[in-house]
Amino acid sequence: AAAPATDLEIARRAPLEPILSLAEARLGIAAEDLVPFGHYRAKLSLPLLQRLKDRPRGRLVLVSAITPTPAGEGKTTACVGLVDALSCLGVSALACLREPSLGPVFGMKGGAAGGGRAQVVPMESINLHFNGDFHAVTSAHNLLAALIDNHLYWGNALEIDPERVMWPRVLDLNDRSLRRVHTGQGERNFEITAASEIMAILCLAEDLADLERRLGRIVVAWRHDDTPVTVADLGAVGALAVLLRDAMAPNLVQTLEHTPVLIHGGPFANIAHGCSSLVATRAALALGEVVVTEAGFGADQGLEKFIDIKSRQSGIFPDAAVIVVTLRALRFHGGATRETMQHPDLAALTAGLDNLVRQVAVARAFGLEPVVALNAFPDDSDDEQARLLACCSQLGVAMANCDHWARGGEGALTLARLIQQRLAAGVADVAPLYPDGASVEEALETIATRLYGASGVELSPEAREMLQRLERAGYGQLPVCIARTQYSFSDDPADGGLIKGHWLRVRELRLSAGAGFLVAVCGKLMTLPGLPREPAALGMGLDNEGDITGLA
Ligand code: ADP
Ligand code: MG
Repeated sequence: AAAPATDLEIARRAPLEPILSLAEARLGIAAEDLVPFGHYRAKLSLPLLQRLKDRPRGRLVLVSAITPTPAGEGKTTACVGLVDALSCLGVSALACLREPSLGPVFGMKGGAAGGGRAQVVPMESINLHFNGDFHAVTSAHNLLAALIDNHLYWGNALEIDPERVMWPRVLDLNDRSLRRVHTGQGERNFEITAASEIMAILCLAEDLADLERRLGRIVVAWRHDDTPVTVADLGAVGALAVLLRDAMAPNLVQTLEHTPVLIHGGPFANIAHGCSSLVATRAALALGEVVVTEAGFGADQGLEKFIDIKSRQSGIFPDAAVIVVTLRALRFHGGATRETMQHPDLAALTAGLDNLVRQVAVARAFGLEPVVALNAFPDDSDDEQARLLACCSQLGVAMANCDHWARGGEGALTLARLIQQRLAAGVADVAPLYPDGASVEEALETIATRLYGASGVELSPEAREMLQRLERAGYGQLPVCIARTQYSFSDDPADGGLIKGHWLRVRELRLSAGAGFLVAVCGKLMTLPGLPREPAALGMGLDNEGDITGLA
């Protein structure tokens, strides 16, 4: 028998609708309000975004998950399945997703445009160089780094302490040898673009004016007297805004079933705040009745950051939440290995259910009553599914068995109906976990103890010193973005998905004044990932027709 079709084969065979006619028919957007990139993708024009600002709001559904395995548990796929299912039910629905980073595409995880029959297309364009947005962020970020070092070179009129330049360079690849580099101006470091402050700013800015305000607030260095030096001080706001202007517009594409999708911005959810752009969310809420968006990794990371950072800043709160679960991840948390987790194992599954219990509690801590979406795999056994269902009924949460990966929107109709019921039930009373203006320590402590089941938080001496400096400079009350492994409730991936009673170890505190948060880097997390022993890159190529092969 022929091998089952790959995601890329399915995507390439799919008949796409020209983006201009899809936008007109589905969203009522006229051709002059789009900036097309070829036939099947377009940016919304800046004047259109401006006009959409005052339209009535649709409802927002946030898709999160249990603690994942390295394979990914299917959040993006679930977002696509769910919007397609809502479309099948006659709802005007859109999805808002993040842009893939080349790091994971060529590293371990592969593409990020969904999978199987639940994909966004054109898949190759989305996964590679998507309309230039990541390159614009990278260029703006590195221009700023060059301007800082140039300022030092030409006499340092701002009296920057050369030992305390905090601004890294970035690139959109996994390249561990650049983590520390020696430059003409001393030691510097690189991070991945998806973890950069400019990416976070692009994703949190309301519009171009807010983009400029946020760029101006970025703190790039400290002076000897411990006062901060900003981008406004350097006079570089205009140049960065020029490079970022086009990247501020969301990209419109479609699912295999021609549901509109906005893909815009791509911060990672472990190192960064993990949400697609606010501009896209607002536009989608103006264009459709229901908007489905993804919050990266487990609810303890993605959902927490979505509400504590993005919702807090924008006032846009989710109306409903989905928690995606796979039996393989539950088995993994319950003791199965990466090799054995594919096979039925009722004992391991039962032990792993506590991860789901805790992620449901995370959603509830914010006032959201989640729906559990079981992302079905062929090896799932009936007794395991029954055990999961029993756990859900004990928790009082609704569960939908989904197979959108195999069947597209039709496979997520139960989930879509449950979400419709939840939305019809009224407005959820959703709020951040800690109050605005809470101290960093209070915020960290609250998240760690209430969501991670930790006993408390331990700041390294360096983090403590930084905290004092930040407090003196007036940055001590920003929300925190916790950067840590996605594989555990702790800061160590080896602790797995069930750990409790641990101490969260904050290694470093970083200021992202433009993004409007502090980053607490925990454990050994790297902000520039490396490639695995066998990177996905080595399986890729072009065929005789010049088409891409091996992009997964
Ligand atoms: P996440 O967004 O949570 O990281 P994705 O939706 O990107 O996860 O899915 C991760 C990978 O797993 C993708 O390559 C996708 O095609 C695959 N996948 C997801 N669900 C299924 C399924 N039910 N059966 C087979 N493969 C799946
Ligand atoms: Mg995803």
